[in-house]
Amino acid sequence: MSDGIHRIAIPTPFAVGRVNVYLIDDEPLTLVDAGPNSATSFDALTSGLAELGHRLEDIELVVLTHQHIDHLGLVSLVAQRSGAEVAAIDVAVPLVENYSEEAQKDDEFARSVMLRNGIPEDVVSALSSVSQAFRAWGARADVTRVLHDGDEMRFRDRTLHVHHRPGHSPTDTVFHDRERRVLIAADHLLGHISSNPLITRPPNDSTDRPQALVTYLRSLEATREMDVSLVLPGHGDPITDHRALIDQRFTLHRRRAEKIHLLLAERPRTAYEVAQALWGNIAVTQAYLTLSEVLGHIDVLMNDGRVREVEHDSVVVFEAQPAA
Ligand SMILES: [Zn+2]
Repeated sequence: MSDGIHRIAIPTPFAVGRVNVYLIDDEPLTLVDAGPNSATSFDALTSGLAELGHRLEDIELVVLTHQHIDHLGLVSLVAQRSGAEVAAIDVAVPLVENYSEEAQKDDEFARSVMLRNGIPEDVVSALSSVSQAFRAWGARADVTRVLHDGDEMRFRDRTLHVHHRPGHSPTDTVFHDRERRVLIAADHLLGHISSNPLITRPPNDSTDRPQALVTYLRSLEATREMDVSLVLPGHGDPITDHRALIDQRFTLHRRRAEKIHLLLAERPRTAYEVAQALWGNIAVTQAYLTLSEVLGHIDVLMNDGRVREVEHDSVVVFEAQPAA
C-alpha cells in the first residue's frame, strides 16, 4: 500500500466493522494496533501476517494509536507470543495498564453524563450492560516504551514523528512519515464516516465534562496543516486528499451546530431531546454516541455565547441566547 506499510483488516463485533492493523515491514518489525481480543480477530491477524510472509512471533514492536478496545484488545497477547515491545503515548499508559479499573470508571462517568443530560434511567442501564459485555474484547497490556508528543521513532528505513491529536479519544496519536508524506492516523480521520468525538472521562480524574468536539476540531486544524499525500485510517480505505476531507468535516459540523441552535431557539431542550429531534428514536447502543455528538456542538455554541445551560432537578436543559 505504502512503501513497506501493509493493512490487515481485522473483524470486530462492533458496528464500525473491521479495524485496520498496519504492519510496518521495517526494523523493528512493527504492528500498529492489534485488533480486539477474540479468537476470530486473532486468527485474522495471524493469517494476515502469514500472507505478508511473517509470523506473529517475529513482531518486535506494537504501537498503540489510542485507548479503544477494537484497537488494543490483542496487544497483550501479541506481546506475550512475540516478546515485542509495546509503545503508547504517555496519557494512554494508565488506561492500557489498568484496563479493567479504568473501563469501570469510564462507565461510571458515562452513566453520570447520560443521566445529567436527560437520558432515561432504563436506557442508561441497558447501555451499561452492553458496555460491560463488550469489555472482554479489551485487555490490559504493559507499555514498555512511553511516547510523547513530538517524539521521533527511528526505524531502519524511516522515521515516524509522533503527534498527540486528542478528540475522538483523549489519547489519539498519529504517526507522520515526513519523507514519504504518509500519516498513520487511526480513528483521528476516517474516510467513509466522520469520527465520533466521544465524551470520555478526562485522564486527570476531574469530574468536569471535557469538550471533546472542540478539542477534536482543534486537532483536525493541526492535521490539516500537515504535508501529507496519504492518510492510513483505523477503519476503511486510505485517504488521498486529507485537506478536502477535513474541510467537509468542518462544513458538516458547522451545519449541525446551526441545526441544533434552531432546535434550541424553538424551545429549551435537554441534549437527549435534541438527539431525538435530530435522529428520531435512537437505538440504545447509539445513545452515548449521539449524546456526545449533540453535546459537542452545544459546547461550540456555548463557547460562542449562543446557548446557555440551566439546571433543573440535576438535569441540564439548554436554551438559545438572543443574538447580541
Ligand atoms: Zn476509536
